[in-house]
Amino acid sequence: MRTSWGSATDRGRVRRLNEDALLAQPPLFLVADGMGGHDAGDVASRVTVEEFSRLADRDGVTHDDVQAAFARAAARVRESVGAGRTAGTTVAGAAVAAGGAPYWLVFNVGDSRVYRLADGSLEQVSVDHSVVQELIDDGRLRPADAEWHPDRHVITRAVGTGPVPEADYWLIPAGSADRLLLCSDGLTQELDDDAIRYLLMDQPDPQAAAQILVQAAVEAGGRDNVTAVVVDLGDARAAGVDEATIERPVTPPLRGDGTEQ
Ligand code: MN
Repeated sequence: MRTSWGSATDRGRVRRLNEDALLAQPPLFLVADGMGGHDAGDVASRVTVEEFSRLADRDGVTHDDVQAAFARAAARVRESVGAGRTAGTTVAGAAVAAGGAPYWLVFNVGDSRVYRLADGSLEQVSVDHSVVQELIDDGRLRPADAEWHPDRHVITRAVGTGPVPEADYWLIPAGSADRLLLCSDGLTQELDDDAIRYLLMDQPDPQAAAQILVQAAVEAGGRDNVTAVVVDLGDARAAGVDEATIERPVTPPLRGDGTEQ
């Protein structure tokens, strides 16, 4: 598969530090949004990216590789911030799946997101681990009202706040015209899906697309750190992969309390 990509990140207009971090090193792409007092969030996202970067020189990665990286990252976050302090980070990632077939393994913990642009339509692949998503799932909140909910920034899972992060996973066939967007919530709280879709379609170059998305979010308010990674997928049609097939999830989704749904 031939893959091209671009990335951008910005502190925004309000925050003192940029606690987002990103990794763009084939076969792995990732956005991490750190949280915690003082500079702990910055440390959490940075050490998590470091752990995942160990997978960067492979042809492809497996679900087990990602799960092991999550476990190492969680241990390092706890070790780095020290006893008595709490820090954590979200992760939204996409990796070329090992095994020959052109698939992407998408994964997330928290409310950073993975979107897929295919044939002009934008689909959110990942599902947030957040209080508002749980309220939406229970029918107690309309998606349109989520933006104004007082708990809109409260996430229900993070890397570093427990022994083993509970990630969700999806396998996506890689289509030749497809584009993935990985982003932190600083992007999605400033830009709606139509704006994201328009900017992704308007910019053929993935680096230009990432920069313009981040710039637009900063100009729209920049209330949080903003990060975007844009990945153009390689050609899968030649390999005969059925693009209509989206297998999700590959592991049973877990509720915030660790029980299976
Ligand atoms: Mn954020």
